[in-house]
Amino acid sequence: MNPESLIASVAINFGLAMVVLSLFSILKKQPSNAPIYYARRLSLNHQIHFDRRFFSLRRYCPSLSWISRSFRVPETEILHASGLDALVVIRLFKFGIKFSVVCTVVGLAVLIPVNYNGQDELSITYHSMDAFTISNISRGSDRLWIHFGCLWFLSFYALYLLYKEYNEILIKRIQQLQQIRDRPDQFTVLVREIPFCTEHKARACSADHFFSKYYPHDYHSYQILYNGKDVEELMNQAKSIARKINNLKERSEVKQTNRSGTFLLDKSDREEAKLALQEEKLEELRLKINQLQSESTLKQKELPVAFVTFKSRLAATLVAQSQQHSHPLSWITSMAPEPRDVSWRNLVIPYRILPLCRLGVFLTATLLTIFFAIPVTAVQGIAKFEKLKKWFPPAMAIQLIPGLSSVITGYLPSAILKGFIYIIPFAMLGMAKLGGSISKSKEEIKTCNMVFYFLVGNVFFLSLLSGSLLDQIGESFSHPKDFPARLASAVSAQADFFMTYILTDGLSGFSLEILQPGLLSWDCIKSCFYCGRKEKNPYLYSLPYCRVIPMASLSILIGMVYAVVSPLLLPFLIGYFCLGYLVFINQIEDVYDIIYETCGEYWPHIHSYILMAVVLMQITMIGLFGLKSKPAASISTIPLLLLTLMFNEYCKIRFLPSFRNFSVQSAMKNDELDMKSNRLEANYENASNAYSPPCLQPLNFVASGSSSTRLFGSSS
Ligand SMILES: [Zn+2]
Repeated sequence: MNPESLIASVAINFGLAMVVLSLFSILKKQPSNAPIYYARRLSLNHQIHFDRRFFSLRRYCPSLSWISRSFRVPETEILHASGLDALVVIRLFKFGIKFSVVCTVVGLAVLIPVNYNGQDELSITYHSMDAFTISNISRGSDRLWIHFGCLWFLSFYALYLLYKEYNEILIKRIQQLQQIRDRPDQFTVLVREIPFCTEHKARACSADHFFSKYYPHDYHSYQILYNGKDVEELMNQAKSIARKINNLKERSEVKQTNRSGTFLLDKSDREEAKLALQEEKLEELRLKINQLQSESTLKQKELPVAFVTFKSRLAATLVAQSQQHSHPLSWITSMAPEPRDVSWRNLVIPYRILPLCRLGVFLTATLLTIFFAIPVTAVQGIAKFEKLKKWFPPAMAIQLIPGLSSVITGYLPSAILKGFIYIIPFAMLGMAKLGGSISKSKEEIKTCNMVFYFLVGNVFFLSLLSGSLLDQIGESFSHPKDFPARLASAVSAQADFFMTYILTDGLSGFSLEILQPGLLSWDCIKSCFYCGRKEKNPYLYSLPYCRVIPMASLSILIGMVYAVVSPLLLPFLIGYFCLGYLVFINQIEDVYDIIYETCGEYWPHIHSYILMAVVLMQITMIGLFGLKSKPAASISTIPLLLLTLMFNEYCKIRFLPSFRNFSVQSAMKNDELDMKSNRLEANYENASNAYSPPCLQPLNFVASGSSSTRLFGSSS
């Protein structure tokens, strides 16, 4: 790519982002858009102050107030209001900022001057971006030792940051678990594969026999689960009928206020008949549901799964982390997820076929990752204008308009790629739901992993290998030793593509995220349809971890791989992470709902993504030093690689267990705190009632319009 294409790309992305962000700052000030831009605050019944005067200049002027507010929000406020998971997302952006600032300083102060003067004889007649990259250094030059030094420095800096973050998040996690110690899950254990009690012909009592025999002092109660698919279906039907009734009632109220003439009277009679019919239907459903919820019917639908509550956290912790029976496939225990996080649908799946479900999901995700290559390589083909001209001669016309070919090569490929990639998290989340996880949070963490490896495979590696793709892969398999060299040559050739990718992903991606164009147009259509007479409910969605975390992690990966190779990319990354930070603070504060709190269980996964980035950076440099005929530098990088891998092993034993288990020490400490304040009994009593499965929930949806029409916004 020549500098003109890069400038075109910068200009387009920057201009677009400015337009979108100013539009956002104006739309946010309009009271009618509050359900979109203040969804979370509205759902929490916060007061929002708008300038309601119609002819006010301030109301229609773009402003930067949201930016300055985002900068002022402290971490403690995010932790307090939205929990540790939201804070982890913000910390990821902060990590990106910290890392890319140091890389930029090193790049601008050391690497770029060295690269620019890299050719020993002054033969730079062409002006290309290559003059600033490592490609400009001649083979065997001793200047490569400077790159070698920078690589060691940046690697150690990255590892230091990783260690510090992991440690801080672990401390915050332990504090948070103490803060939220009223939560029912600390007293509750999920038990699976409960055997059938032959004496009483039921499973439920079996749980009671077992736990009162082996934990007589600590066992409190149990909640067996049922296969309640039919009840839930009927409940959904009843809910939709209730919604219809509410709508009819509202409409007739409006009619009554502005009734005129006999024609309308006739119409309202017809509507009343309709209303009576619907109410009759609802009553019928209610009877049916009550019948299905009766004890005798439920007994036949028992599942071998129960939530068992204990009288102390200590007991629950010990039971959850130990083997209960000499047959390891019965009485399987694990810590329960919090009630709002439970994935009830997946608890129906028998424990023994779970490995099959997981294998199925893994295979499907792998197939999707592999076959996604087809559109990506097509996009890469367009990126090379020369190729396009060969395949599609009319494309020559593009050259007639000045500047257009720069636009096409600079902007279009990454924009199309982004469009394809936008739908991937949704597809992966749909797949992860079939994997049998016990909680929504685990499903989303799994999705994060799948999306991240998908992005690494399809955005990073495929963009590198595009061209003679199959040959490259084939040769990499037959000569695995050549892999670093291949990677290195591909990495240095694709620097400019990733520069435009970061630009598009950052500027357009984040500004569209904050503008929410989809919701905005949906809201517009809806208000035209209802003529704006209905009170609008907030569009409440949960924070999309599986979209944000993999995208930001991929940008860190790209930044790391290019930190030494092409330092010109790093200043763009600072902008990327700063914009992401501002946008997501705004979204977490005002827009997205938090539907569960895992107390930072996302971080170990983010840690492994970033560590993979460090390893890739080192492998690329081993290859590059080899290509540049500097084998001594190549070999001297290998100890660094081994050190990084050892660091990873250390982190696994130092931090990971505390993210998987609840320690006896913390459990006891929380129990003691509760005993001091006399809350222990109230807390476990509360826990024993918290895990009521959806099919047992009472019917209470016919209350008023506002509670039943909320359904649309609630995210699943
Ligand atoms: Zn029994």
